[in-house]
Amino acid sequence: MVKGLTISDIHQGLRKKEFSAQELAQSYFKKINSLDEKLGAFLEITQNEALSQAKRVDELISQGKKVSLMTGIPMAIKDNILVKDVKCTAASKILEEYLAPYEATSVKKLRGEGAVFLGKTNLDEFGMGASTENSAFKKTRNPHDPSRVPGGSSGGSAVAVAADESCCALGSDTGGSVRQPAAFCGVVGLKPTYGAVSRYGLIAFASSLDQIGPIAKNVEDCEIVFNAIKGKDPLDSTSVESKFSISHFQFSNPKIGVPKEYFGEGIEPGVEKIIKETIKKVEKEGAKIEEISLPHTKYALACYYIIATSEASANLARYDGIKYGLSKDDEQKSDLLDVYLKTREEGFGPEVKRRIMLGTYTLSAGYYEAYYLRAQKVRTLIKQDFEKAFQKVDVIFTPVSPFAAFKIGEKVKDPLAMYLSDVFTASVNLAGLPALSLPCGKVRKLPVGLQIIGRPFRESEIFQVGKFVEKIV
Ligand code: GLN
Repeated sequence: MVKGLTISDIHQGLRKKEFSAQELAQSYFKKINSLDEKLGAFLEITQNEALSQAKRVDELISQGKKVSLMTGIPMAIKDNILVKDVKCTAASKILEEYLAPYEATSVKKLRGEGAVFLGKTNLDEFGMGASTENSAFKKTRNPHDPSRVPGGSSGGSAVAVAADESCCALGSDTGGSVRQPAAFCGVVGLKPTYGAVSRYGLIAFASSLDQIGPIAKNVEDCEIVFNAIKGKDPLDSTSVESKFSISHFQFSNPKIGVPKEYFGEGIEPGVEKIIKETIKKVEKEGAKIEEISLPHTKYALACYYIIATSEASANLARYDGIKYGLSKDDEQKSDLLDVYLKTREEGFGPEVKRRIMLGTYTLSAGYYEAYYLRAQKVRTLIKQDFEKAFQKVDVIFTPVSPFAAFKIGEKVKDPLAMYLSDVFTASVNLAGLPALSLPCGKVRKLPVGLQIIGRPFRESEIFQVGKFVEKIV
């Protein structure tokens, strides 16, 4: 019954009383029960909570109360976003037993609209990875080929949506973690403009890059969830109210920039072919295609991995065995430093430790100028590349990832190979821009994603272009 259901399908169904919110939620739990042992999208199922949320929705509907598009919509939440009174682990042993004492603003907004939370989804520990293999708890498999990764770090959320274990989901994106798993699993994902969505209640990885974003079955659903979670939040001082609305932009012959640096060397030929074919189809429908240059693209990955690890090393200093979660003080007689060291040694996985070490180094006295400060300067150049490009074009088309979903185990032993997954997505976070990942074809039976990058706070433009592309691919 739940196969392929979109938000508007469910909305109609609920309003016409074809099914109740409780029946619907039960159907998703049935699906989860039958599939998730194999796919491993969820770390925790919150069935009782979900059913009582659904019951409340049914009461509202039977009382004839006005409901919104999100009312009764079953959703999955990445396990680095806090849902009050539910465990939030960030897929790390250090937070294995951490119970969320408050609610993320995005979750609060969705709850306010009557969304139903099915459970918490798997991720790379603290969001650090591109395959979900860095989870301390389980592997997540790609529904298109279970021997392959779903992408990451929001792999669990992307799988839940792709396999109809949920209608839609929240993920988070620091360097590509919503867009790349969406691309690998053949669903739609949005990385909003930095500041468009509150980060309050998102477990911090790299605070100047992190954004919460929706993963959904199509562009329209992605837009609905985004509209429900966006906006200024007094609890996140970096959040802002967007002034733009859909009426500021009418889709008529948009100018699409195609950066030459995103093609050629290093990209799987089948992926390049599909993206180029998609661009041709869009051109045929009246869009103007213009080759552009983003000359600092070649520094983006190095710049991202300096800034992201630096910020991570600072953010993760709070896990000291005293304030949160795991605390290793076995004999009750260790001194404070021992508690810190033992807790962090046992609590963090190898990728997280690697990043803490890298980031501590790049921030240390004597190296700060050579690494962190220089990376911040390069970040400005990358941002300026985009600003220049957006003087000429409305949106930019690129691939999301240089390759389709890879085999489980293929890259996990080679961090640099794994980091290359982010080569087309990290610049967008460095520049703070919004970008959509949209399925546009298949290579070797595996989904390929098109990335549509827009101007700051012009998500509405990206959605218009995305809906147009969706119709013709
Ligand atoms: N793959 C990137 C990394 O490992 C991006 C992760 C993310 O966006 N959270 O840092």
